[in-house]
Amino acid sequence: MTVADAHSAAFIAALEAGDLAGVRRAPKAESHTHGPYGGDRDWLAAQTGRDIAPVSTPLSSMDGMHAWTAANIGDLFSGREGRRLGWEAAFVRARRDGLVRVDFGDDVWMISQGVGDARRLFADIEAARVAVCPDMDWTPQLGFSRHCRAEWLERWLAPFLEVGGWRALDLSGDELAQPIEVFAPLYRACGDRGMRLKAHVGEWGTADDVWRAVETLHLHEVQHGIAAADSPAVMKALADAGTVLNVCPTSNLLLGRVTRLEAHPIRRLFDAGVKVTVNSDDALIFGVGVSEEFLALFRAGLFTAPELDLIRRWSLGAG
Ligand SMILES: [Zn+2]
Repeated sequence: MTVADAHSAAFIAALEAGDLAGVRRAPKAESHTHGPYGGDRDWLAAQTGRDIAPVSTPLSSMDGMHAWTAANIGDLFSGREGRRLGWEAAFVRARRDGLVRVDFGDDVWMISQGVGDARRLFADIEAARVAVCPDMDWTPQLGFSRHCRAEWLERWLAPFLEVGGWRALDLSGDELAQPIEVFAPLYRACGDRGMRLKAHVGEWGTADDVWRAVETLHLHEVQHGIAAADSPAVMKALADAGTVLNVCPTSNLLLGRVTRLEAHPIRRLFDAGVKVTVNSDDALIFGVGVSEEFLALFRAGLFTAPELDLIRRWSLGAG
């Protein structure tokens, strides 16, 4: 038996036994998490004396989530010291979750928020990785907020591209704020530098929005993308293109995008041949890591343990 086969066998056995520690031990990767907001609750409580209890009943909108974040997290991750605390918390959670690779970084806007220049920001995240989990592969990822004007994004992005080292790009925030075409030139600039291109789409928008974003921005991966399950044609296009959908089931549940885990569209996407991965989005806000997400999908009867192992192995191949 190869090492990979042994990991698969142990992961499948752990899922079937409901053994969270065993699920955590299996190597996995996460492509959809938002840095400090994916931080470890217990570690943060020990460091700061503040216990941040996650969302327990569904919020109905992104505004609801922003209000929750302001009330419960506030400015904990503001400024350079706050960001450094957040990076460490994120890597602590990633380590506990059994991640061998994690993709995250910061919004280019941060450069205007007193956290230091592009070089220092990169160095601070890398220092947190080395301090917490030196063996973990970190994919440095830049982010855009969808409500920001393209010329601002271009100005903030420039020093990051100059310094280099960033390997992925994401777009998040209010999905309905501006047409996706606004971001095409910026995505082209990052794509030309070999960066892996992702964007949040199809969480609040439609299946057609998902495909339009993939075509317009030349996306390799879609964050969420669950609305694609409403269209067999879009699912086929995604499957044919090999586009990966980084799905976050508990986030979808707690933001009211799905009513029950048992009915989550990840199953329809999987059945249509779309490559999906399982992610936590904001572990600190939604209260679960990737391992708990895998267990929840198994318990909900959405997938067999071998199917979830296939999804786990897909995550290792992405990024
Ligand atoms: Zn997200």
